[in-house]
Amino acid sequence: MLQRHLKQFLLYLPRTRPGAKAHGPTTMPLDTAIEYLKGVGPQRAEVLKKELGVFTCGDLLFHFPFRYIDRTQFHRVSDIQTEGEQYQVKGILRRLETAGDGRAKRLVGTLRDETGAIELIWFQGVQWLERNLKVGKEYVVFGRATQFGGRMNIPHPEVEEVTPENAQSARSFDPVYPSTDKLTQKGLDAKGLRKLLRTLLDGISRAEIPETLPDFMLEGYRLLPRWEALQKIHFPESQQELDAAARRLKFEELFFLQLRLLQIRRRRKDASKGLVFDKIGAYFNRFYREKLPFELTEAQKRVLREIRTDLASGQQMNRLVQGDVGSGKTVVALMSMLMAIDNGYQACMMAPTEILAQQHFTSITELLGELGINVGFLSGTVKGKKRAALLEQLAAGNLHLVIGTHALIEDWVQFKNLGLAIIDEQHRFGVEQRAALWKKGAGLPPHVLVMTATPIPRTLAMTLYGDLDVSVIDELPPGRKPVTTTHRNEHHRLRVQGFLREEIAKGRQAYVVYPMIEETEKADMLNLMSGYEALSRDFPPPQYQISIVHGKMKAADKDYEMRRFVKGETQIMVATTVIEVGVNVPNASVMVVENAERFGLSQLHQLRGRVGRGADQSYCLLMSGFKLSADGRERLQTMVQTNDGFQIAEVDLRLRGPGNLEGTQQSGMLRFLLADLGRDGQILTAAREIASRILEADPALQAPENARLRLHLESTGVAARVWSKIS
Ligand code: ADP
Ligand code: MG
Repeated sequence: MLQRHLKQFLLYLPRTRPGAKAHGPTTMPLDTAIEYLKGVGPQRAEVLKKELGVFTCGDLLFHFPFRYIDRTQFHRVSDIQTEGEQYQVKGILRRLETAGDGRAKRLVGTLRDETGAIELIWFQGVQWLERNLKVGKEYVVFGRATQFGGRMNIPHPEVEEVTPENAQSARSFDPVYPSTDKLTQKGLDAKGLRKLLRTLLDGISRAEIPETLPDFMLEGYRLLPRWEALQKIHFPESQQELDAAARRLKFEELFFLQLRLLQIRRRRKDASKGLVFDKIGAYFNRFYREKLPFELTEAQKRVLREIRTDLASGQQMNRLVQGDVGSGKTVVALMSMLMAIDNGYQACMMAPTEILAQQHFTSITELLGELGINVGFLSGTVKGKKRAALLEQLAAGNLHLVIGTHALIEDWVQFKNLGLAIIDEQHRFGVEQRAALWKKGAGLPPHVLVMTATPIPRTLAMTLYGDLDVSVIDELPPGRKPVTTTHRNEHHRLRVQGFLREEIAKGRQAYVVYPMIEETEKADMLNLMSGYEALSRDFPPPQYQISIVHGKMKAADKDYEMRRFVKGETQIMVATTVIEVGVNVPNASVMVVENAERFGLSQLHQLRGRVGRGADQSYCLLMSGFKLSADGRERLQTMVQTNDGFQIAEVDLRLRGPGNLEGTQQSGMLRFLLADLGRDGQILTAAREIASRILEADPALQAPENARLRLHLESTGVAARVWSKIS
């Protein structure tokens, strides 16, 4: 984690690393090599470099505390009652001895105050601690309580001797820095690092930390000057000071990221001339009048208008369409493709799995009917003569529209004139794959429309897709009944079965989904198969038929089983999450999720989206074990409480953190020093708005009042590489 954070220093500092210099004692520029800081020296410098990547004084300045000790709040030893809670106590060290040896060697101490005694245990840094801790002295101890052998103790506490200075200290907040064993051995524990930071901050002059934001921003948004914020992030005197410092630094992080993303977007718009689709033609109009089986929702209409404006603008479209499960993204995609075809161009639509691509193909050819549009299908399973014929037609321009999987972006697939590429369920596609589509056009790049499977929180969208324009379909087609969701356990097993029987008796169908994180996981496979067998006993043929689909099956077998379910020949579909995205069987009214606690929120929401597609009341039953983690419980509760995908996405972001959401793992863009997209949405929104306004008025940042911004962007230009990759 530390390593990751260190990379972010790029955001702040010109890299002068290995050539760092020695400077005299009067000045202390930030590029001073760390060993010249008073109290460091060559040995400690070595460990600081190795353990924290701190090479210069500037690096150290950006080694932020991860926590603060509020010196005004102390517990008494008798308060230490709850396992897992953090406590800060003050007391006299009464005993200190080592126990065990070799790898099991540990140091055990007893701290006593007027209310009782608590055991402290260390397994690491034993030698150093043994030499430095003194029985009889008073210490402040901070740590997380655990229970061992029926008694509370604190393993690996932070300890600090109470001295006349720090006892009287006016400061009520002490920074605690990330440290490591090796650092601790050199005396650079949290406290040692605190001392270094103090020395550093006392030694640098304000001139060494230039302001990066213009005065009008500091004043307009009540932001602390950079210099002051850096002082106070390390040594705040109150919670308010800390908040103000953190706000300024988070703002800066998010602001410069947004400024850069918006710049990329502007540049691309200026540079990339796009195909002009300025007419709404016969295909579109006939489809709209004769084929469209329902009235579009207002949201669908609005998004189509936005797309239409893009397509006619003369610039390449790069738009993301967000919409909840079932909001009707497919028809929006189709009508956009008709616009391209009406203007004499080809269109393609790419889905992440064979099943999904197939399904799009089926529903789109069905929707189009006899309109006279030639639609092709291409995936890895299309082989031999069929494939050759398709490729030929595509290159000759006889096919208007092709739907498929990744196979579409392979080099040997040539279009005559690709005008619009639609990527469904974006987050399964890598960045490079998205980029590969650009090259498919004959001359100008095709317009690109990205559709997400599930909503992503606004803050995340602004960052991950910050260079795209975003449309939101925030309305479901009318007449949908919200899916009723309940949380059940083994005690309810019989009732759940009875319920399934009732629904099937009404002619409905049901999904039963098992977790299979890795399709190779043996235990999961057994779990799935024994679930299937149990269901087969409870729902025996010939009255009942059950389909089964999992990732280890051959594509053809999967397809066969899927089809039987789609046609209504089977009543129950037992499956893993291979059916998660996109599958559309309106007659299915029950979704049972086994071991629901093991699924992520967005997965659960996707699964639930498989039902509730028809006019009937649908149900989602989340089966779980009895023992649930706090997060697991909150996930299931969230599902029970709301059907709103955007709200669910926000909870997901808060619980998992931005880096762990599906599809975002590989993104370097979500690494921040201080900012947290789950919590700092307001700051982010403001930062983006301001960045946008500034670029609007002064695209090249030439105005004198924006000089600091330009300077900062230029001096941190290395980091821009990371961002340019996301498009
Ligand atoms: P998603 O946004 O999840 O991809 P789909 O495009 O698969 O949703 O649409 C879900 C279902 O809703 C489909 O059966 C589709 O035909 C139907 N649908 C889409 N738009 C409308 C509408 N405006 N009115 C009624 N039904 C609609
Ligand atoms: Mg869809």
